Amino acid sequence: MSAENFTEAASRLCTACGMCCDGTMFQIVRMQPGDCAAELGKLGLKIRSRNGEFHMEQPCAALKELRCTVYEKRPTRCRLFHCQQLRLMETGETTEPEAMKLILETRAQAALVRDLIEQNGLREDGQALLDRFERVMSTPVDAALEPELAVAREALDNAMRKLRRVINREFRPPPLAG
Ligand code: SF4
Ligand code: SF4
Repeated sequence: MSAENFTEAASRLCTACGMCCDGTMFQIVRMQPGDCAAELGKLGLKIRSRNGEFHMEQPCAALKELRCTVYEKRPTRCRLFHCQQLRLMETGETTEPEAMKLILETRAQAALVRDLIEQNGLREDGQALLDRFERVMSTPVDAALEPELAVAREALDNAMRKLRRVINREFRPPPLAG
């Protein structure tokens, strides 16, 4: 695939996906040398510091209708990030339609997890998906006293396991060697 064709196909896939920006895949994005936390904060990104290091919280405030509204000024890690599907497409190991199908299926699974989180009593609160999931799961349920809630809790646990499996297998880039 030529560089130009790849860029165009990646743009179509990313604007149908957004999972590396909307809190589905990540909780934070770490700032890198050269990133100006103050400038990014002025753009509306949720910049926080921990132990002297800056990061941006997800879901990213710059993502609107699956598009990055600060694209030209986005942080370094956003510039460098190519998920596994984009990498496979670039090397010809998958095609745009195959990647698109997987993206749509995975987004549907993430939507199911979000629905189940609400069914478990936690309304949308703008936090990353994993944070919300862990918050729900940290509250014990007595199946004898709350059988319906116990069923909803188990359904959420199963749906999240499935989502994490597919994200880890199909979207997270492999760890760097060495
Ligand atoms: S997960 Fe991949 S396809 Fe989806 S928005 Fe991120 S880089 Fe694009
Ligand atoms: S700055 Fe843009 S590319 Fe980076 S996480 Fe936010 S929406 Fe995504």
